[in-house]
Amino acid sequence: MEQRFLKRTWAEIDLDNLKSNYLSIAHSIKRNSDNFHTKIIPVVKADGYGHGDIMVAKTLQKLGADFFAVSNLDEALSLRLANIKGDIIVLGFTPSAAAEVLYKNNITQTILSLDYAKELNAECAKLNITLNAHIKLDTGMGRIGVAMHDASAFDEIEEIYRLSNLNCSGIFTHLSSADSLDDSSVEYTKRQIQKYTDALSELKERGISFKASHLQNSAGIAFFNNIECDYARAGIILYGVAPSSEPFPFELKPVMSLKSVVSLVKSIDADTAVSYGRTFVSDSPMRLATVPIGYADGYPRLLSNKAYMLIHGKRAKIIGNICMDQLMLDVSDIDDVKCGDIVTVVGKDGGEAISFDELAKITGSISYELMCLIGKRVPRVYIEDGEITEVYRYHHKMD
Ligand SMILES: *Cc1c(COP(=O)(O)O)cnc(C)c1O
Repeated sequence: MEQRFLKRTWAEIDLDNLKSNYLSIAHSIKRNSDNFHTKIIPVVKADGYGHGDIMVAKTLQKLGADFFAVSNLDEALSLRLANIKGDIIVLGFTPSAAAEVLYKNNITQTILSLDYAKELNAECAKLNITLNAHIKLDTGMGRIGVAMHDASAFDEIEEIYRLSNLNCSGIFTHLSSADSLDDSSVEYTKRQIQKYTDALSELKERGISFKASHLQNSAGIAFFNNIECDYARAGIILYGVAPSSEPFPFELKPVMSLKSVVSLVKSIDADTAVSYGRTFVSDSPMRLATVPIGYADGYPRLLSNKAYMLIHGKRAKIIGNICMDQLMLDVSDIDDVKCGDIVTVVGKDGGEAISFDELAKITGSISYELMCLIGKRVPRVYIEDGEITEVYRYHHKMD
């Protein structure tokens, strides 16, 4: 195969699976009620959860997505520079000093609070511009948004809505616990949903309505699907990973596989120390394979002496501390391992598979975090219909 990228450690992004997940999400929203017209806002923050924001957005744009969500202005500009059309919302904070950049690039800003709205409005008034905005309500996440604790919240929202240099075309909230299905979490989520729908009715009575209302994240789409908003914000499920260990109601196909290669195979004697700090010392003779992936590639050092990788469809355990750029595997029980053999770090090989969830459980984290951690020096190799269609790599972004 032609060498379009460095075959050291790389991430394969299966765009067919991405498309399949998008269509499954759309289908699941539709299946719940033929009258639901909820559209999907693909969440492509954090470089598309490590998958590459541009290729994810371009692929979903072809399927009709016309509204994307990111966490900050730089991420929004990354999409605009790549010629992504339609709406882009910044879900988090943007300093009011950047109002002109938001405006010039037609980016929608989340309103975090009344104070923030006033400051942003004042900046827009100075520039004589009107900025598109969505008002965030805090119904129980406790992060950003107008706190919905008593009726004064409606006065605050009304004041924001009437600011003349903000065009508040949308409103939304965020669920904190929709991925847990124990009684108390379900009750909490239902209360958040109720607060949100009550708020919309109260605002309607005050003559305030919005073109775009959205509430569900991935877990909301999956487990609290009896809701019709204009949009739902789909993040992790687009990438084919369930938001939690609760049984997932429809098929998701993992989009990313992480691959590496064997760089060296060697035999060691009993009583031989391996890697920094000598955290592993052999009891008996062993065969080890060295693999060029380390914590600088986003593979957490907390996995040292605990996690497995796949070679020839078999599990090989990590031995000794994970280094910045390399680590060692025990391949004593795997036949014929040689330099250049493929190592599957996350993904399937034969009948075996390793998921981000499996690794996240070991480090006490969540799959979200491990995906985002995949380093920028790991090339993203895009595959469609079994062919490499695009490569993003360190020294120039687009092939
Ligand atoms: C990240 C994020 C999402 C997406 O969450 P998933 O669980 O990945 O679907 C949705 N809404 C907001 C406000 C977010 O910050």
